[in-house]
Amino acid sequence: MSSSVSVTRSLRLATSFAVILATTTFAFEKDKPATPPVTVEPPASSAGRFIDAHVHFHACKTGELDKAIAWMTSNNVQRVINYPLAQSRPKNDAERKQMLENYAKHKDRIGRGCVIFPDEVNSVEEAVVILTREKQEGAVVFGEHYGENLKFDDPKNLRLYEACAKVGLPIMFHYSDRTRNMDEKGMPRLENVLKLYTNCMIIAHGDWWRSLPEGSCGRLLQTYTNFYADISCTVGRAGIRRDMERSREFFIKHADKLLFGTDSGWWSFGKSPAPEFALMDELKLPKEVEEKMCRKNAERLFGWTK
Ligand SMILES: [Zn+2]
Repeated sequence: MSSSVSVTRSLRLATSFAVILATTTFAFEKDKPATPPVTVEPPASSAGRFIDAHVHFHACKTGELDKAIAWMTSNNVQRVINYPLAQSRPKNDAERKQMLENYAKHKDRIGRGCVIFPDEVNSVEEAVVILTREKQEGAVVFGEHYGENLKFDDPKNLRLYEACAKVGLPIMFHYSDRTRNMDEKGMPRLENVLKLYTNCMIIAHGDWWRSLPEGSCGRLLQTYTNFYADISCTVGRAGIRRDMERSREFFIKHADKLLFGTDSGWWSFGKSPAPEFALMDELKLPKEVEEKMCRKNAERLFGWTK
């Protein structure tokens, strides 16, 4: 996905933000090793196999989250974390009211992300006021955070991270693809942030996975207790299927820090399931590892534990 930002300050949540859905290419599909078909339990009820920690469904109009629930049921997903993008954020108070009603109706199955863009606030304090209200009104995480045209540790990004740390919201970010949340080899700017906000849970997504072969992903997950990654985008971007045995070892080693996610959204209705669903079968992970990745880590992180 790519996006461009235009900010209107008079309406706090009325930002226009064009998001173009990039076609996900599964370059390594052809390299997929021949594996016997794996039987997946069909969804018998809402108690599905997966918590999908990364989706984007519209939520501001009547019935929009009902469509998300239908998608979840057809994909054996019990719960999701739904992140707003610019075009799915509420544009006015009426939309926000409807959005909160929609989430209240599905609060046991759909967790709500909230986001503000770096140019929308001028201070940490300003961000804290907004995010405090978001949390009071049910938001469980900040994101998807695109630092458009910013380095990952740009001061404009830092004030958002600091506000999240103060309010107590985890952060899920889209990582450096040359125009957003940019960083260098070895991810030093991300590491700066992990060191600065050790009490803030930070979740990687996107091109972060490209650093898997050179070892930075594993090093950061192992070093920083506040650091997680969701597995959306791994299939197309990280070469997971090029070396399934090595990938399997990585997933087992970092089982406590990984979240199942697909980056599905309103564009996914009626389409084939995201490749991450099949990946979980192809990896043939130990049951306890799969349970952590597909459910338990998300339950812990987003407050769904009893
Ligand atoms: Zn996303």
